Amino acid sequence: MAWRARRAGVEELSAVSFCATLRVARSGSEPLKMYRARRLLDLLVWYQSELVELGKERSHEMLEIRFRPDSDEPPIVSAAAEYRRLWEAEGEKIVRQFATTTGLTFDVHAMDARVFEGTSQSDPLSLRASYDKETKLGTLIHELAHHLVQGHTARSAGSLDRPDRQRENHELIDLFLFDVWADLYGQTFARRQVDVESRRRPMYREVWAATLTLDRVGRAARLQVLLRTRGVEPSREHRRERTGSP
Ligand SMILES: [Zn+2]
Repeated sequence: MAWRARRAGVEELSAVSFCATLRVARSGSEPLKMYRARRLLDLLVWYQSELVELGKERSHEMLEIRFRPDSDEPPIVSAAAEYRRLWEAEGEKIVRQFATTTGLTFDVHAMDARVFEGTSQSDPLSLRASYDKETKLGTLIHELAHHLVQGHTARSAGSLDRPDRQRENHELIDLFLFDVWADLYGQTFARRQVDVESRRRPMYREVWAATLTLDRVGRAARLQVLLRTRGVEPSREHRRERTGSP
């Protein structure tokens, strides 16, 4: 993967330069030490800016979703194919939009999605077959919104699909879901999906009504507060993926 290779390169190079510079900096005259200390600082600044750039690239990286029909019945198979086409066409844009709106990126590179005739859910990702095309897209984004947040929550928090957590979870995702929909496909699309969801359950309707009393700025501010309250960490590329660093 291009991103991983580049990151490995950056780490490799910075590790080698750091260690080498540090070794020589410990010996030698005072002016030389000063010079080398400055050089170390330059390296550190460069390393950090590279990580920032790589983080931006990472957020644009594709999330692979393998849509699996739950049976070989033609409506289920063709629904899985439609989800697949939608994701091929829109996936990259959707992932990028989530990153732009929330500052969060997915903590996985691939996942399976079961396409069946039943209630959609996020974990494991399961999607109703019989939605029209637009609602397939809207619902897929909704379930991915749960994943996005869950991927950054402490594991001890348990499944976010637990019934007692459902209202809380929707209060959180609705704060960015509307704006993600609207930025990708327009206000009309977003409003229609709010209507579709509001007809599904009273809880959805109530949470949407409360969320949309806030304007966009209000939603974004509240989102950051809730993310912090729930211990959701912003996307960072500082987690150790390799060992053997200096
Ligand atoms: Zn949901």
